[in-house]
Amino acid sequence: MLDENLEVIQVPAFSDNYIYIIRDLISGQVGTIDPGTAEPVIKILDEKSWKLDFIFNTHHHPDHVGGNLTLKDRYDCKIIGHGADQRRIPGIDLKVSDGESFTFGNREVNVIGTTGHTKGHIVYWFAQNNVLFCGDTLFSMGCGRLFEGTPAQMWESLTKIKQLPDITKVYCAHEYTEANGAFALTVDPQNENLVQYMTEVKRLRSEGLMTIPSNLGLEKKVNPFLRADDLRIRQNLKMIEATDEEVFAEIRRRKDIF
Ligand code: ZN
Ligand code: FE
Repeated sequence: MLDENLEVIQVPAFSDNYIYIIRDLISGQVGTIDPGTAEPVIKILDEKSWKLDFIFNTHHHPDHVGGNLTLKDRYDCKIIGHGADQRRIPGIDLKVSDGESFTFGNREVNVIGTTGHTKGHIVYWFAQNNVLFCGDTLFSMGCGRLFEGTPAQMWESLTKIKQLPDITKVYCAHEYTEANGAFALTVDPQNENLVQYMTEVKRLRSEGLMTIPSNLGLEKKVNPFLRADDLRIRQNLKMIEATDEEVFAEIRRRKDIF
């Protein structure tokens, strides 16, 4: 049964990051995902007269953990992150890894390991809410750069995300959608869904609006990094016989130099 008792507030930060603040409407518990900076989070918590119970970190990069210690100091909140990155996640308390879960309010939050962008990258899956906080693993029409993982690892990570329901709301950590779409069109120009979505994205961005959250059903149709197994993309890349991992690696390589 869908549990609607989760409020999500989307907070733009830096030039293109999103920090999320979530609140369980029953228990009043509050969390924030990837607070790269503390100020905008404190501002909203103050306005709402909310405390902060948890910080959820997807990975250790400064634009995701930069606000950890300031927020912990102020609210005495618990910080959740990948155990393998305990030395790189400031103030970490609860060390989790792939396949583990914990509770927020009365719902279960599942941790999915998504090595690729970094070794210890994880995403948070709120099954009862069909909500996914995916950090820098999956973006709308894109995926994170491979700083620490191999293409095969990232493809495996994205394949795990692909198995979640189409109605999943995708809350990623960056507004990269329009630039990602411009690249996506170079490998999948005949994709009508992609062309149509790009028109909508351009309109939203020209009005200064956010394109996030996306949803997973749409991403499966338009995001080339989820579509390394797609015949038309393989034809376009002249890689009909290649493995999915090889096609994914080639799409990622092209994006890196786009
Ligand atoms: Zn990152
Ligand atoms: Fe980032």
